[in-house]
This record gives sequence, structure tokens and C-alpha cells, in this order.
Amino acid sequence: MKLQTYCKSFQKAFFIKSKAGTRSELEDEIGAYFNNQCIYCLKNNEYHVNNIFASPNDSVKLFGYIFGGLIMTIGMTTLIWMNGFITSGGIVIGGLIIYHTSGKAPTSIVRAFNNYKIKRGKRK
Ligand SMILES: [Zn+2]
Repeated sequence: MKLQTYCKSFQKAFFIKSKAGTRSELEDEIGAYFNNQCIYCLKNNEYHVNNIFASPNDSVKLFGYIFGGLIMTIGMTTLIWMNGFITSGGIVIGGLIIYHTSGKAPTSIVRAFNNYKIKRGKRK
């Protein structure tokens, strides 16, 4: 899982260096309000933890593509060998695995992070 926020000047996403798994963990780590230097415009802006969103790692996606592709191939060859014709079973299962591990369907941890918002209190 990667944590990102948008630059206030360019609306471009950049990554936050943190291993926090939830938004409250992130708040404990960097505080509700924090300053971060944008990698694009080098401006030091203030952000709130609620402006950070999580996205799945590319490695997870890659694993999904390889694993899904493998299931498709195995499913198709097995079914062709057994029945002598192509069925869509392997393609459907493989396709679902690829879909679920791709960015369109974030993992539950990513979804939980994005859904949970910190209560905005007064600044310290
Ligand atoms: Zn910027």
C-alpha cells in the first residue's frame, strides 16, 4: 500500500513516506496537520491527514496479473485437454483475479484507510 496526497499548486499526486496501515496510525506518526515538500514545485505546504489517500502497490497488481494469467492458461489448457473445446471458466476466474488485484478494486486495507477520516480538531 502506498500513501499519496495531491500538490495544492499542481494537483499532482506524490507519495508520503510512511508505513502506517491506517489513517489514525498516520496521525500518530506525523500529526493531524503536517508540512510536506512537494517533489514537483518544491513548495512546503501544510496538509491534513484526511487529504492523504492510499492506493495498492504495483507489486500487488503485478502479482495479480501473473497469477490471474496463470489460472487462465491452466484453466484453458486443462479444459481443452479434458473436453476438447474451450470453455470460459478459466478465463472468467483468471479475469476476476486480475480485476480484484488491479487498481479498480482496492484491497480491503486500502479501502479501510480511505474510508476512515480523522475528526478535525483544533490545531495544537
Ligand atoms: Zn507542488
